[in-house]
Amino acid sequence: MKIGFFGGTFAPAHNGHVNMLLSAIRQLNLDKVIVMPNGIPPHKYCAMDKADRFNVAKLAFDGIEKVEVSDYELNKDGASYSYQTLEHLSTLYPDDDLFFIMGGDSLRDFPLWVKPERIAQLATLVVATRDGSVDKDSLSAVRKAFGARVVFLDFQPIAVSSTDVRTRYRLGMDNGGNVPEKVNEYVLAKGIFKDFADKVEKLRTLLEEKRFAHTVSVVYAGIDFAKRNGVAEEDAFLGCLLHDCGKNIPQEDWGKYGFSNSEGLLPPIVHCALGVEVAKKEFSVTDQRILDAIRFHTTAKPGMSQLEKLVFVADKAEKNRKYDVTRYYNTALVDLNKAFEYVLYDMYLIAVGKYGIERVDKMTLSALKYYKLI
Ligand code: ATP
Repeated sequence: MKIGFFGGTFAPAHNGHVNMLLSAIRQLNLDKVIVMPNGIPPHKYCAMDKADRFNVAKLAFDGIEKVEVSDYELNKDGASYSYQTLEHLSTLYPDDDLFFIMGGDSLRDFPLWVKPERIAQLATLVVATRDGSVDKDSLSAVRKAFGARVVFLDFQPIAVSSTDVRTRYRLGMDNGGNVPEKVNEYVLAKGIFKDFADKVEKLRTLLEEKRFAHTVSVVYAGIDFAKRNGVAEEDAFLGCLLHDCGKNIPQEDWGKYGFSNSEGLLPPIVHCALGVEVAKKEFSVTDQRILDAIRFHTTAKPGMSQLEKLVFVADKAEKNRKYDVTRYYNTALVDLNKAFEYVLYDMYLIAVGKYGIERVDKMTLSALKYYKLI
């Protein structure tokens, strides 16, 4: 028999997963596919509990002939490594051929997994890339280093990820086209990903429509950058969500927040300091890391944390900006520090051109010196 193994976090399972699974069954003539939600993903933060991930996997793949959803890894203690699961499957199916179904990002990271050579020995890798392209570099790396057998799926990919789905739910947006109907119903009925719902609704009342749309775009960018730069998804979400929460507060309301601009901040910077007070009072934020990300998202400062850099860059690199953000955005996906320096320096040049050097915020000048950009 030809047996497929499809492991994933499935937080939650989405139409991209269903699509690739169906394509794998068709293209490889698989007799059976074992879908297995990860236990404690060794390389991944997880935002949904085990029982819910198991249930949504069952709902997503329900009714697809030949598919069985297994709770084997969920019930194991400790980290679950794919090579161990494949060893387990090969003892259950000693005379059968195993096919490990994975996305292109998994193929790229494959050399970093535990015992990749053992995985390559036990199963043929079946790779589905999100944009349908063949990643020749990753392919030759895993073939050469581990003697892996690799097959690419010839299919029409659906550009969706669990991360996007989570963000949309958290922002109160519709996910109908992204997840199977039963998964959508389950998530909504159980109120999963409602952790920021109150804050999102409150923010809508404090921001003008255009500013709220910018904020949503900053959240998307920040979540994208968080994934590859070791920033927790929830921190990125909250920092980006609230970065401009002080922006549309009229001056006559400053007193309500105990704010008087006693530091004499320049007009474009006022909302950052005011935003800290708004975040505390209206959003009950006490986490200093988030408050600092709000405070320095326009000026920057010496010694920025990764979260602060992320909010700073996401604000300037969000895709609705009128200028071309490609360089900033693409750099931030792989190297947030570099992107931060690009953005900081370019913003400095713009500020000097617009206001003259004497009106560039002191904190920005200190940051530029600290990062040896001037
Ligand atoms: P997250 O966004 O949380 O990282 P994910 O959407 O990648 O999640 P996983 O549960 O980690 O979902 O996915 C399991 C496997 O499916 C991974 O190997 C991943 O690369 C792959 N995959 C997920 N979505 C797609 C897609 N739309 N097209 C192709 N492969 C995908």
